[in-house]
Amino acid sequence: MAHAIKFHPGMSLLEQHAEGTLSADVALAVAAHIDLCPHCQQLSRDITADLACQLAQQPVKTNTTDWQQMLNDIMAQPQLSKQVAAIQPHLPAEPIIVNQREFILPRSLQRLAANRGKWLHLGGIATAKLPAGNDYHISLLYIDKNTEVPQHTHLGLEMTLVLAGKIVDENGEYGAGDLLINSPDDTHTPRTMADEDCLCLSVLSAPLKFKKGLTRLLNPLQQFFY
Ligand SMILES: [Zn+2]
Repeated sequence: MAHAIKFHPGMSLLEQHAEGTLSADVALAVAAHIDLCPHCQQLSRDITADLACQLAQQPVKTNTTDWQQMLNDIMAQPQLSKQVAAIQPHLPAEPIIVNQREFILPRSLQRLAANRGKWLHLGGIATAKLPAGNDYHISLLYIDKNTEVPQHTHLGLEMTLVLAGKIVDENGEYGAGDLLINSPDDTHTPRTMADEDCLCLSVLSAPLKFKKGLTRLLNPLQQFFY
């Protein structure tokens, strides 16, 4: 059952994620991958520990007055009551339902997904937009079994995180947790297998550009995905 995740974010993405320097949309895809990937969870812990070490070694400019002031400020703060923790337990995740299938999302996506837009369907493909900043388009992308997304290239960055099921394209086969990163140079035709559908998180910095078929048929496709 356990699927070995083969496609991970690169070390520099993990480092920027730990430093908090990624844009919120890219950070979301990386965080959701980390939720699904024990390997990157360990790497992230190591990176965070290294960062903490580096920070601790930096000389800190301070003097005794500042310390005293800081202590006074801390002591003056009211104690948080224990009720605060009790009010916000981890609620059981609401499943995502699409095409009469139920999916439980990684924790890092649950809050955002609760505010998703309506599912839009086109053939065996469905998308639901998630609230995002201005720079990226984030959506849940459902692909029914035995369905192909028409061949396309990218006008910007495309990050696809497989959340459940499996997709294949010209470059490989991707299962739950695998993170595909495609740039404007990459052309591919993702499709599902005959017996298994797929749910993905899609993060796009620009629309997809469809390559085959009649332009007048593919233009609505471009709008559908972005
Ligand atoms: Zn990983």
